[in-house]
Amino acid sequence: MSDQNVRAIDHPLVAAGLSVLRAKQTTPEIFRRYLQELSVFLYFESSRSWRTNSTNIETPLGPCSGGILAKPIVLVPILRAGLGMLDGIQRVAPDAAIGHIGIYRDAETLRPVSYFERVPVNVAAAEVLLLDPMLATGNSACEAASILKAQGARTIQFLCVVACPPGIEQFHREHPDIPIVTAAIDPELDDHGYIVPGLGDAGDRYFGTG
Ligand code: URA
Repeated sequence: MSDQNVRAIDHPLVAAGLSVLRAKQTTPEIFRRYLQELSVFLYFESSRSWRTNSTNIETPLGPCSGGILAKPIVLVPILRAGLGMLDGIQRVAPDAAIGHIGIYRDAETLRPVSYFERVPVNVAAAEVLLLDPMLATGNSACEAASILKAQGARTIQFLCVVACPPGIEQFHREHPDIPIVTAAIDPELDDHGYIVPGLGDAGDRYFGTG
């Protein structure tokens, strides 16, 4: 699969953190901590090309030039597993505005059903990061990205922890303009739409509901 708009982070800390998330004996407490930490690495990678405006600063020893982000940041978790990524990123992006998109996957059709949308008013001017740990069938991500575009978002990236080729293909068929930043690309989906080997149900593991 060759898709220029997918970046899988190749970094030892990401590989180590992801291994903890994948292990089935990892407790919800540890799972939470590592999902939050891994999300910060994804945030770091996604922000690599963001523009800054120059600014003048006075340090205790004298003047110096610096940079401030040119655009505001909007973080949009897809409920509910995306909240796990939000918790981590918010700690290092405290000024970010937060939107929420609630989508569940119908267990039989695997089709996305939207039940909640609240997007910040500045979304059109912002760097928008759509968050969901798993890019599985791609249906929820496609639906959420369409909702964001309908609300005016113009610069969007999709951040996930594990993606798979069917999800990437589906997402980029509908949204070729939205880069995907992920920690891993796993080979396949099972008959229930779960990524294999993946890490199981990210929402259940994060919230301890499994
Ligand atoms: N959602 C999850 O939480 N895990 C998967 O593998 C697929 C969808």
